[in-house]
Amino acid sequence: MQYDVIIGLEVHAELKTKSKCFCSCKNEYGSSPNSNCCPVCVGLPGALPILNKYAVEQTIKAGLALGFEINKTAIFERKNYFYPDLAKAYQISQLEKPICINGHLKVFDKQIPINRIHLEEDAGKLVHEGKETFVDYNRGGVPLIELVTDALKEPHMETADEAIEFLTKLRQIYVYAGIADCELEKGQMRADVNISLKPKGSDKYGTKVEMKNLMGFKSIYSAINYEIARQKEILDDGGVVEQETRKWDFDKGESYTMRTKENAEDYRYFPDPDLLAVNISNEDIERIRKQLPPLPDEIKEKYITQYGLSEYDTDVILADKKIADFYEECILEYDKPKTVANWFTTEILARIKGGAGLGISKENLVWIIRAVDDKKIQRLTAKEFLADIWSKNVDAEAEAKKRGIMADLSSDFVFSILDKVLQEKNEVVTQYKNEKDEKILNFLVGQVMKETKGKANAQEVKEKLKEKLSD
Ligand SMILES: [Zn+2]
Repeated sequence: MQYDVIIGLEVHAELKTKSKCFCSCKNEYGSSPNSNCCPVCVGLPGALPILNKYAVEQTIKAGLALGFEINKTAIFERKNYFYPDLAKAYQISQLEKPICINGHLKVFDKQIPINRIHLEEDAGKLVHEGKETFVDYNRGGVPLIELVTDALKEPHMETADEAIEFLTKLRQIYVYAGIADCELEKGQMRADVNISLKPKGSDKYGTKVEMKNLMGFKSIYSAINYEIARQKEILDDGGVVEQETRKWDFDKGESYTMRTKENAEDYRYFPDPDLLAVNISNEDIERIRKQLPPLPDEIKEKYITQYGLSEYDTDVILADKKIADFYEECILEYDKPKTVANWFTTEILARIKGGAGLGISKENLVWIIRAVDDKKIQRLTAKEFLADIWSKNVDAEAEAKKRGIMADLSSDFVFSILDKVLQEKNEVVTQYKNEKDEKILNFLVGQVMKETKGKANAQEVKEKLKEKLSD
């Protein structure tokens, strides 16, 4: 049978703030366990929360970046559940009146509707060591925004590719707007995915299965495809899909039942009596809107129309904000966006993808690109040179001079070397004269290039050789 697939996403992102959401403890990743804690964030009786205004502003910023309406009055509620990572046995969150409602994000050619973004506090972290489990409350109380797509509205996300594109774009927007760092390996961005299938064209929604706390886009992609196939098989066999929460096992590449789903009532939400309603004025909203920096779609437009880059080059440069920022810095130094982009997509990105950080300064990179354009260094030599000085603290110009790789193309110099090679490779020359084989000629060109340490222009050498050997 044919099915319609409906994919919903709940995405959590830790906000980039100096302090936590309801106390002045540091919001910092990697501190020693339980060092960023106080009575408020470990939930000691009588401790009172004080709302971090900047966390609210960051949430509004996220909403504005994604075309949301901002609620003029937002309310914080207690979500009650018992788990060791939650010191207070409730999480301060938002249910009835979140800060942002009704947004959207363009995924390929679909405007995917988003129901809400609300602000809440993160829980602590359980650390399992052997048979023991420890709790680190440093993360407890860190401001977290939760975005929930609206699967009741069309169009839906239907494939793993669309879900990954959604997350990739969302992450880019958060990073570019300075809302969140979204480093996946630090758990700063986490997604829950829910999937349901219904017979093609049917109005009736199928049973939703949720997969919680997926970390990393690879897991999410595989988990979605696995779940679609699993539900298809059940339905094809005439079975019933159970409403449940499943856990993805990355190593085995399969999911298993974690628990049957709680309903929202089970959390006994109620307004937090310790926190006032948040009033957000139009002035606040406009002030925050002005703080929004250019977002990826806008920058992409600029790269394509003003810089003349291809869509592919634009996407690979924008994929990492650090790279995009570095690219812009280089453009300011050397106003040749397309040339510089070529160096980025061929030389720079490949090196960074190999796990190395950015191993070259703006000054050195621009010097190399310019030297090639000015024909002071052969392109191939320059690429090898770039690889050589990568991650080394040297001055490119001084180093190039020291190594003698700058072009010294006085014809006499090149001709003398050419004659020397022709003499030494006497037999090869005879062979070429007999066979007129291009490969043999290329071999001779290679010999000359080697002798000149790559300083000659290979094309010119080839022409000169042809000329010499034609008589
Ligand atoms: Zn605290």
